[in-house]
Amino acid sequence: MKFKSCESSGDFMTNLSKDVTTKICEDVSIKSKSDIVKIKNKFIDEYRRIDEDSQFPSILSEYVKNGRSSKEICKAMIDFLYVNNDLCNNDLIWLIDNIDEESREYLFSKSGKTRDRYYGRNVYLRGLIEFTNYCKRECRYCGINAFNKKANRYRLTMKEIEESCDIGRELGYSTFVLQGGEDPYFNDDRMIEIVSMIKEKCPNSAVTLSIGERSYESYMKLKEVGVDRFLLRHETTNENLYKWLHPLSEFESRKQCLLNLKKLGFQTGAGFMVGLPWYSTVDYVRDLRFIKKLQPEMVGIGPFITHEDTDMHHYKSGDLDTTILMLSLVRLLLPKVLLPATTALATIDENGRKKGLDVGCNVIMPNLSPKTHRKDYSLYKNKKSSGSESAQALDMIKREIEGYGYICNMSRGDSKLTGSYTIKYK
Ligand code: SAH
Repeated sequence: MKFKSCESSGDFMTNLSKDVTTKICEDVSIKSKSDIVKIKNKFIDEYRRIDEDSQFPSILSEYVKNGRSSKEICKAMIDFLYVNNDLCNNDLIWLIDNIDEESREYLFSKSGKTRDRYYGRNVYLRGLIEFTNYCKRECRYCGINAFNKKANRYRLTMKEIEESCDIGRELGYSTFVLQGGEDPYFNDDRMIEIVSMIKEKCPNSAVTLSIGERSYESYMKLKEVGVDRFLLRHETTNENLYKWLHPLSEFESRKQCLLNLKKLGFQTGAGFMVGLPWYSTVDYVRDLRFIKKLQPEMVGIGPFITHEDTDMHHYKSGDLDTTILMLSLVRLLLPKVLLPATTALATIDENGRKKGLDVGCNVIMPNLSPKTHRKDYSLYKNKKSSGSESAQALDMIKREIEGYGYICNMSRGDSKLTGSYTIKYK
């Protein structure tokens, strides 16, 4: 277990008490096969509940009473989902577990149509700048977690960030997504400086941050300086699994951050990884219900991909089919959502991006980070880097997307979701 043997992980770890770190990591460490069974049972048995549900009655019970076939039930559920953008939890569970190949295609055609209805064939391109891979967090799955001593750490300088934006602006981008580990170096003052620089240079551009959990006050300062959007995947709603994946963190804090972001008026992005160990259909439906209730403007969903230098190196990656199914369901549950065909999806399958777009995705985030550091932002194995730092590279991406029958849209591409914020969690 790498966590335990990791006494020091550089200056960014100084805030964590070593005792606490060691204790928690010991508690959750896997020493034998029977530990794995114990952990598995804990995740499965204690967390087979979903607190929230839709107000719609079950289609399944009605149809079963009338002796309908499985295919007929699938079709009825998909039609209902298409019209009402919701389905009760039990029906969702049944649909995920029982959908046949033909019904999957039918579902995908409906989710694709739903995207077309609100966004047409537009695919929004966002310039991604991975500006630091220093991270104080302990996410077991992630290649840049604080405990990975093999990670080659870097931080872009202000000048490098500025140059990346200049390149992006010249290429026509009007959204810049700044993503990084939770790096204490980038405190509020430094983030404010970066955002102000971008807003000054590109006043009509949107700025998206993906820099993890911060205090309400910090988010507020970032909002005030002009940050438009914030991506913070919830990762999983299975609280026990969340704890195992992040031994020093709580799902509740993550959720609170998302609620704070929504409250402050950011276009907010939640999302989860597909194919985490021991995941069940109930877990997926709980994630979907969470998203349906939160009403985020953006949802990031991608397969979990093994990273060889993490604790989870012996777990297998998530699969394409489940990821596509989840994307399709999210599009139907939240018709106006901005839904990226993620890099992880493009990494696990060479047609991943196309398949994502075909089921209703409408965002792609090509990489604008300087080439010198790109391979060091290694969240997972063989991470695909669709660079677009040159006009030529961008042209290639554009041609690819247009070849699939979509329109590359370089405008801000704001969310079409509007309305007041009235979510109350149990
Ligand atoms: N520090 C930011 C950004 C994290 S990296 C934050 O906390 O939000 C962005 C996303 O990459 C994560 O939210 C996670 O869902 C995903 N990710 C990290 N490691 C991964 C892996 N091994 N496989 C697939 N996705 C991964």
